[in-house]
Parts: sequence; C-alpha cells; structure tokens
Amino acid sequence: MTGSPIWHPFTQHGLNEPIPLVTHAEGASLYTADGTRVVDAISSWWVTTHGHAHPRIAAAIAEQAGKLDQLIFAGWTHQPAQTVAEGLVEMVGKALGEGALPYVFFSDSGSTCVEVALKMALGHWSHRGEGRHRILVMQHSYHGDTIGAMSVGERGVYNAAYAPLLFDVGVIPYPHPGAEQATYDALERECRAHAAAFIVEPLILGAGGMLFYPPHVLAEMARICAAHGVLLIADEVMTGWGRTGTFLACEQAGVAPDILCLAKGLTGGSMPLAVTLASEAIYQSHYSTDRAKTFYHSSSYTANPIACAAACANLAIWREEPVRERIALLAERQAAGAAMLAQVKGIANARTCGTILALDYVVEGAGYLSSLQPRLLAFFREAGLLIRPLGNTAYLMPPYCISEEDLGRCHQALAEAVKLVKG
Ligand code: PMP
Repeated sequence: MTGSPIWHPFTQHGLNEPIPLVTHAEGASLYTADGTRVVDAISSWWVTTHGHAHPRIAAAIAEQAGKLDQLIFAGWTHQPAQTVAEGLVEMVGKALGEGALPYVFFSDSGSTCVEVALKMALGHWSHRGEGRHRILVMQHSYHGDTIGAMSVGERGVYNAAYAPLLFDVGVIPYPHPGAEQATYDALERECRAHAAAFIVEPLILGAGGMLFYPPHVLAEMARICAAHGVLLIADEVMTGWGRTGTFLACEQAGVAPDILCLAKGLTGGSMPLAVTLASEAIYQSHYSTDRAKTFYHSSSYTANPIACAAACANLAIWREEPVRERIALLAERQAAGAAMLAQVKGIANARTCGTILALDYVVEGAGYLSSLQPRLLAFFREAGLLIRPLGNTAYLMPPYCISEEDLGRCHQALAEAVKLVKG
C-alpha cells in the first residue's frame, strides 16, 4: 500500500515515482500542495489551449451547472449542444470548405470519438449494402486506448497484453522523407482491395513519437482514398484547435475528410467532450425510416450540458479573442527555440510544427521504453516543469498563453537535459 487507493494511468506504481498533488492552476501554471509553481509545458495531456481556468470558460461552467447539469441526449436536446454544433459546422466549414462536414455527433473523449468514427464508416458501407470492412491505418499511429482505438493504433508495449482483442487492419508505412512513394503505393494497393476507411493523424503522429510529415503528403493520401471511394477519417484530437499553427491540420493540405474527430481543446481543455463530424453522404446512409439503420452509439454523458457550455465559451474565445495571433507568436518562439536546440550536441531532429516543438535525444536503445525517459522526467520535475517525454523524444505543447520567460526556461531545460544522455 502506498497510502492512496488511486491506480493512475500510464503510471508504473512499482517504480515509486513521486506523484505531485496539484491544488490549483492558472494560465500555464500548476501549483502543488507544497507551494511549488510548475510550468505546464504539455497542456496537461495536450488539452489546455487558452490556459488553465480561463475566466470565460470557468464562468460558463458555473452558470450551466446551476441551470441544466445533465440531460439524456437520445431524443432530447439543449441549447448549449445546439450552439456548439452550429458553431463547429461554421468554423470547420470556413476551414475546410462550406458544407464539408454538416453533422456533429457528440461523445466524451478522444478515444470515443474515434470509436464513433470507425462505427460510422462501417455503418455507412453496411447500410449501403457494400461489404467493405477493412480499416487502413498509418504505422506509428495512436488513436486512443479503447479496444477499437487500440486496434487502429501502433501495436506495442502498451497494448501487447490485449492483442487477442484487437482487430486486423491494413498498415501503411509512415512517410519517411524521401520514401513517400512507398506510403502511396501501399495505400493505393489497400484501397484497390476495397478498404472501408483510412484513419490518419494529419501532419503529426503524436503519441507515436511526434513524427511530422508535410501537408502535400496528406493531400496525396487523401487523393488516393478519394479515387477509390475509401473514406478518410481525420483524427484531429491532438492536432486540432491550433496546435499545428492553423485551427485544423487538414487546412494546410486543403483536405476535407469524410469524418473528423475532435476532442481535447474542444472545451479549451476544461471538460471532457468530443465530437465526430460527418459528411452528408455518411449521415444519409444512416437516414431512413428503418430503425435498424439507427446509429447505435451512446453513453450516459453524451453532450453533457456543462461540457457543452464550456465548448460554447471556447468557440466564443476563438471568435472574439486574438487566438490565432497568440498561436502565431508561440509558433515563432518555438521555431527560435528549435533553432537553438538544433545546435546542441546530443540532440537530433529538433523540429516544430506550429506551436509544437519536439526533439530526440541521441541514445542507444531509443524508443518508448528508453531508460532515459524516467531520468528526463525527474530532471524536468525538479526544474519545475511538466515535460513528459515519449521515450527519448521530448516535446513541448504548451497552452497558447505561456510567457516568453517560461517558454525560454523550457527550451533551456531541454538543452541542459543532454547531460543525462551520457549519465
Ligand atoms: N487520438 C489522438 C490523435 C490522440 O492523440 C489521443 C490522445 N492523446 C486520442 C485519440 C485519445 O484521446 P483521449 O485520451 O481523450 O481518449
């Protein structure tokens, strides 16, 4: 017994690493029970976009909690959900083309909006009487930790024990620079065999190691899918809400997917809420007087009104505050940081995509279970920074309000951490 009954996620309790207790947070700062201020350089698992405890979001949550806290969403509706859905359709329409994704299905996490996307895709083909079932995925992908989401993600240490539960997928190689043709060829081959859908993280494979690829590759993959009628599912759970420099990563490639997954920053990172947006064709294949064609997916908290109120406030912030300017400024500072870090011996591939900076420490035994990871984690913790490397890959994905000084501290710490490489 450790004194707490809590079993934490992605935490090996047997290693007895400290688990700080956080009492409150503001902007890019977390405050622990012993009074330490910690810079949240990864937006508390990539969710916090405008900063913790944004006053408009906090006020919207408080007001909604006193008005309508929860409502069954099968056959009932409420204004916050209507406002979010309409706002999203408009915002996504502006980014990807008007009318591209006119329908919004609510759920509550990144994993569940991916499950919904997969079910929509298979439902689409099934209701049309076409036997397409195979899902295509990209090597090194991550789409969540529920069974379907794990099935379409990279197989590795985090899901090896559950392999018997996972379904078979077609894996397309990651488009290494110079080897993009191999990706296109594999995709083309799988598409020809009447795949149902290709699910992809646009521009950045996040949990797979912050692997970037350029917009023209995404555009070409989308073209191949469209040529064979294979549905394109864009998982923008991480890349959405400005992380890559634009509201959606797909924008940069001029790609409108058939299905779009959004979560994390949907509420500014304050409440669990997710959406899966669908094209007219996907909605129409389920639309019928036949009850057997109903989209059978729900959970108790689907479109929870308090979470939707937080999302409404987030959409208003995007409309009314200079969010895009903040993103551009952060992207500029990150690019300058990466240029500095690229000069540091022991660091490879210092790179940025919009507001995200990533780098690899040069070690033997690289990879997710690199022994460097726990030492890096401890080093950053002691420096008052929440930076949680993926193996020997470290990254910064801060809230857009992070100060120049705090960001500079993060860049400095990333540079200083090379001393651990030799240790
Ligand atoms: N898709 C992507 C691309 C993600 O990065 C994540 C989470 N990091 C998920 C899905 C799963 O989201 P959640 O943790 O909210 O279930």
